[in-house]
Amino acid sequence: MMVEDRTVPTNGSGTDVHDAPITLDDERWEKVVEITGGEAAVCFQCGVCTAVCPWALVRQKPLPVRLLIRRAQLGLDRDGDDLWLCTTCGHCQSLCPRGVDIPGVIRSLRNWAWQEREVPEGLPSLMWDVHWDLNPWGQPPSQRYDWADGLDLPDFDPEKHEILLYVGCSSCYDLRMQKVARAFVGVLRAAGVEFGVLGEDEPCCGEAVSAVGQEAYLAEIVASNTKLFAERGVGHMVTLSPHCYDIFATEHATDGDFKPEHYTTYLAGLIEAGRLELPGIAGIAATFQDPCFLGRTHDTYAEPRQVLEAIDGVDLREMDDNREQGLCCGGGGGRMFMETVVEVRFAVPRVKQAQATGAQVLVTACPACTSCLEDGVKVVDEVDLRVMDLAEVVGMALAGAGE
Ligand code: SF4
Ligand code: SF4
Repeated sequence: MMVEDRTVPTNGSGTDVHDAPITLDDERWEKVVEITGGEAAVCFQCGVCTAVCPWALVRQKPLPVRLLIRRAQLGLDRDGDDLWLCTTCGHCQSLCPRGVDIPGVIRSLRNWAWQEREVPEGLPSLMWDVHWDLNPWGQPPSQRYDWADGLDLPDFDPEKHEILLYVGCSSCYDLRMQKVARAFVGVLRAAGVEFGVLGEDEPCCGEAVSAVGQEAYLAEIVASNTKLFAERGVGHMVTLSPHCYDIFATEHATDGDFKPEHYTTYLAGLIEAGRLELPGIAGIAATFQDPCFLGRTHDTYAEPRQVLEAIDGVDLREMDDNREQGLCCGGGGGRMFMETVVEVRFAVPRVKQAQATGAQVLVTACPACTSCLEDGVKVVDEVDLRVMDLAEVVGMALAGAGE
């Protein structure tokens, strides 16, 4: 029901669209409260979220996070493109004094945008790629395990295997990330781990679908994957991407036997158990990029560093913003599937931070981070940095190939 029109004052953001009179609509307000689970209601508009959002580092106009939340509280229309800039890195949420699940609110607002058919160009075809090809890159499902040619990977058998290795769409299809998958297979074999894979039956985890807020489709993917994993007897699953891990841990992990884990914590466990001995590297200075969906989302900061520190010859240095304050690479929240011009890529200031440590290697543990940071290295002047996944560094140590 439409209620009286009331003009509300602007909040001083200076953005033109908010200076105009606005109409409050009770029905719409109820809809927004419902769709965001009431999460936005506790915000008291302190503005910390806007201040810490990395968009303020790369452009003059910050992402008006506080305003997005305020408009959600009031049940007002979404603010066009701003909604789709968020990488869901969680930095704002980690510092919000009211504990608002800001990335969750953003995803809910995106879900609403899908319902009203107001999404950026390209995202509907992303959904079709996942639907028809079972991966967001639109690559043929029959080529999903081409990366493993010659590796003789066994089909997962719960009677024989300790873990299911879930490789994920990026590492299956992206030529750069295929090297990470192959390196990790070598590490597992060096540790004597009995593992199997699902091969061409490996499904998409649905993270890209979740990131852009397509909740109805995500629910279908989760139901289908849960059924498949139960049928195949999947218990302990190790993923290469923290995004896959997050989706499995938060959306799929309803069965007590199903235990998803990111490979960094698994590797730390193998080292601690004495199953993986790392002979060392001839000496490299390295710094670690905390993937948002490993660090801030799952509080996993120590284990990747423990793995690096277990390698003789690695001189681990920290960037100015690290651990809880780590700077997002810019690839989350579906941004990998949207155009980001060079001038506003978070990876550029991040690469400069890595460069300032004097490190030769910028290590991470996420396909999105690797891709974004390598793009960042290409555009920063006079930078001499190699971006490597932690699995590759461990593989290099096992090969005794320091640089
Ligand atoms: S930091 Fe939290 S309480 Fe403060 S404006 Fe943002 S969402 Fe609201
Ligand atoms: S989640 Fe990250 S990108 Fe999104 S609004 Fe918060 S700080 Fe900004």
